[in-house]
Amino acid sequence: MRANKLIELYPDIFKDFESFNNIGDGWFSILEHLCSAVSLHCKETNLDFSFLRMQNKFGTLIIERRGDDSFTHMVNRFAERLSFKTCEQCGKKGMLHSSNGTQFGKQATLCEFDALQKLYRKI
Ligand SMILES: [Zn+2]
Repeated sequence: MRANKLIELYPDIFKDFESFNNIGDGWFSILEHLCSAVSLHCKETNLDFSFLRMQNKFGTLIIERRGDDSFTHMVNRFAERLSFKTCEQCGKKGMLHSSNGTQFGKQATLCEFDALQKLYRKI
């Protein structure tokens, strides 16, 4: 599982980590690049940083963490923003979709193919 591999590769920045919640495979390449950048920065600056939770909330990536400095704040925000346009299933270009086509349905960021497979509609 890709989540476990991230924790294995970067134990220092996952030391206080609690959970991944509903993160699809499509977002893991974003997280791999994020972890690589944050880990290197923490080594260079001795920053005491840890991810706490990564979750999919209303079709967007939310990253909770402690110990931010301006660099980690910026790259985490950037990763969260990339999730707005990245299919959470496959990693291709995506957009926000809903199970019933309104903001009241279950929301997911999907490419057209995965939206059709799951019967989601653009909102
Ligand atoms: Zn897709």
